[in-house]
Amino acid sequence: MNTDIAVVGAGIVGTLIAREIGRRDPAARVVVLDRDAAGSGASRRSAGLHFPRGASARVRDMSAYSEAYYARLAEEDPGAPIHPLAMTIIADAGSADAVREAYLPSAKLAEAFGTGRQDVAVPPGGLAWTVQGGHYAEVGALAARLAPPGVREGVAVTAVRPGDDAVRLSLSTGEELVAGRVVLAPGPWTGDPAWSELLAPLEIKIKRVVALHVDEPVEAADPCVVMHDEDAFLLPLRHRGDWLFSYTCQEWDADPGAAAPALRPNHLREAQAVLERYAPELAGRCTSGRVFCDAYTPDRQPAVRALDAAGRIVFAGGANGSGYRLGPAIAAEAVDLLDAKGL
Ligand SMILES: Cc1cc2nc3c(=O)[nH]c(=O)nc-3n(C[C@H](O)[C@H](O)[C@H](O)COP(=O)(O)OP(=O)(O)OC[C@H]3O[C@@H](n4cnc5c(N)ncnc54)[C@H](O)[C@@H]3O)c2cc1C
Repeated sequence: MNTDIAVVGAGIVGTLIAREIGRRDPAARVVVLDRDAAGSGASRRSAGLHFPRGASARVRDMSAYSEAYYARLAEEDPGAPIHPLAMTIIADAGSADAVREAYLPSAKLAEAFGTGRQDVAVPPGGLAWTVQGGHYAEVGALAARLAPPGVREGVAVTAVRPGDDAVRLSLSTGEELVAGRVVLAPGPWTGDPAWSELLAPLEIKIKRVVALHVDEPVEAADPCVVMHDEDAFLLPLRHRGDWLFSYTCQEWDADPGAAAPALRPNHLREAQAVLERYAPELAGRCTSGRVFCDAYTPDRQPAVRALDAAGRIVFAGGANGSGYRLGPAIAAEAVDLLDAKGL
């Protein structure tokens, strides 16, 4: 056996998994592999917003766990690129119950008179709340920081062969890596031929995710404004000095392996149509952005599953556009699953 555990994918999910394995069993031999550089997949394009909410009890628990995890991480490593944020939620008054149900008690929702920015309005018939506990991170940089020494960058896994006593991985270098257990954390690369058959039962689909830069300076006290009904948000990126506007793009079957995707006129039109409802002055200032994709599950909850009969191969992903904010909880569930099999 070359290693006890191989983690495939060094995005935020894979690097958090490697960290969690090391925390629980410092003696475990762990190899982390990535076809590209650590933190360069969906993680590099992420807006990195954490808001303390969830659409189901499981996701709310995951959100609470992850918030506490990142707070500890930021305390232990003050250089980690994690930035606290003031946050305002706006929604139609008819959605008030849904907002109260979705946000964690620790968010301490408090009704507010406005959004905290004069140029971002609460629409007629709408309500606003302040929320505690929000932050954003530079996710690609954080994943690269969390990647263990010796992370094998530039090494693709080209085949995964489960066996009774070990898993055999073929690598793009021509080597074979024999691992006791394997965690697949491929972000949106769920269709990779190396594991597409193993993952087929999960029915994961890949959706485009788009966040536009808004060319507007950021003030120190600017809050993130979350448009609850639209599943959109305006995020002040303090470390760069401009804003991101993330809206829900409905383009499906995106290919993460295609040449770097570029913004298209429909992305600008769709984003501007949403932003015009709340901040018409800012809508015209979205002209560039981040375009990539993420893996979506049928129930819109992360998937953490054993893929083979012996339980030696675990999949961790299907983050539904929330892989940063739920990453620590996804990692904990994946390592729980490895531990439960006691292999
Ligand atoms: C524009 C945008 C905005 C977003 N905003 C937010 C947000 O505000 N909050 C939030 O929580 N989430 C957000 N997300 C989603 C979040 O970024 C993702 O869910 C998260 O980054 C997924 O992390 P990951 O580690 O699973 O995947 P990735 O970061 O994609 O990592 C997977 C890694 O696997 C590697 N890999 C793939 N195939 C192979 C192979 N065959 N062999 C070896 N390595 C392989 C890839 O190179 C990659 O590095 C956003 C996403 C986008 C695109």
